[in-house]
Amino acid sequence: MDLGLSGKRALVAAASRGLGAATARCLSLEGAQVAICARDKKRLAETADVISKESGNPVYPLVADLSRSAQITAMVVAAAETLGGLDILVTNAGGPPPGTFESTPLDAWAAATELTFLSAVRLVHAALPFLRQSESPAILTISSLSVKQPIANLVLSNAVRPAVVGLTKALAEELGPEGIRVNSILPGLTRTERVEALIEADMARNGTTYEEEMAVRVRNTPLRRMAEPEEFARVAAFLCSPAASYVHGAMVPVDGGAIKATL
Ligand code: NAD
Repeated sequence: MDLGLSGKRALVAAASRGLGAATARCLSLEGAQVAICARDKKRLAETADVISKESGNPVYPLVADLSRSAQITAMVVAAAETLGGLDILVTNAGGPPPGTFESTPLDAWAAATELTFLSAVRLVHAALPFLRQSESPAILTISSLSVKQPIANLVLSNAVRPAVVGLTKALAEELGPEGIRVNSILPGLTRTERVEALIEADMARNGTTYEEEMAVRVRNTPLRRMAEPEEFARVAAFLCSPAASYVHGAMVPVDGGAIKATL
């Protein structure tokens, strides 16, 4: 199946590594021109270089801190200028720190809201004028299975991410008549540097092996393993592509069956 991504112009936020980088790579391999952003200039440039060498298509690194409104606006405008327009926006950001309600300081709530929720609002706000000029515009937000099923010790994610899917649904309702498709992916446990670091921290704290920590994490996942970033990215690329032309307002789990709800 041809996804129809060749020549599409895509901006993937928070993409120097992890789910964002995997999505940028998949889009690029499918022939899209991609801009990626993150804060670390060197790491971002390395990622862009690696993807570009593999795909043979240009990948543009644009430094921006997604907790800063002005930097988001400037970065989106730079991406659209560099790419000659914008067909695809993938909103993403670093995850909020772990913790329970009791262990989470009050000021962490505002920071998590800025990075996890308001970054998506600001990215969409800045990108909309460009997406409106596209023939096949698509927005994809990256959230988490925590919007359907809270995850222990991640109170900030459990509480703030539902706002991202609320935004996604509202945008689908408002932008659908203009032909702008809006969807979200709810990833389950996926092998990224962030997840590996969290596992290593728990191994040190609990005196456990990698296998023991993994067994605890995948106990309630029917596929009994975590995902590779590419497994997430293939779904992301499809949802952003013209091949998904009637998929709209969907919250798509990529979670190995971990969400237990029937709907
Ligand atoms: P990651 O930490 O591996 O990568 C995060 C990316 O965001 C990096 O490129 C980092 O440079 C960038 N970033 C972080 N803060 C930023 C900022 N202020 N400005 C600009 N860029 C910034 O994380 P990941 O595992 O790829 O996860 C991506 C998102 O998906 C996170 O919000 C995470 O919580 C969520 N998520 C991940 C999983 C998983 O298992 N990996 C599961 C569910 C949800």
